Amino acid sequence: IKVEEKLYQNRYIVDENRPHIQIKNPELCATECGDQACTFCCPANCYNKEEGGGVSLVTDGCLECGTCRVICQDQDNVSWNYPRGGYGISYKFG
Ligand code: SF4
Repeated sequence: IKVEEKLYQNRYIVDENRPHIQIKNPELCATECGDQACTFCCPANCYNKEEGGGVSLVTDGCLECGTCRVICQDQDNVSWNYPRGGYGISYKFG
């Protein structure tokens, strides 16, 4: 079974207008962050490079793995919390 097929087994309840992860200062992504590791380390592809050098974040489908929180420690530009109770990812296989 492919990773994409496994991810499709998960269920996600979006907390509308209350993203649990936010980029603190989007300008910093474009000007201070060289490799923008979040755009290739996030297993759910929540981060994407934008035209103009910035990074966009859509937390729908976030696996709550914490990778972006760790790889952004040098820049400290990610505000990371778990979703409120009842929202976020549900893993079919635990
Ligand atoms: Fe992606 Fe994991 Fe960060 Fe969620 S917690 S946005 S899945 S790297």
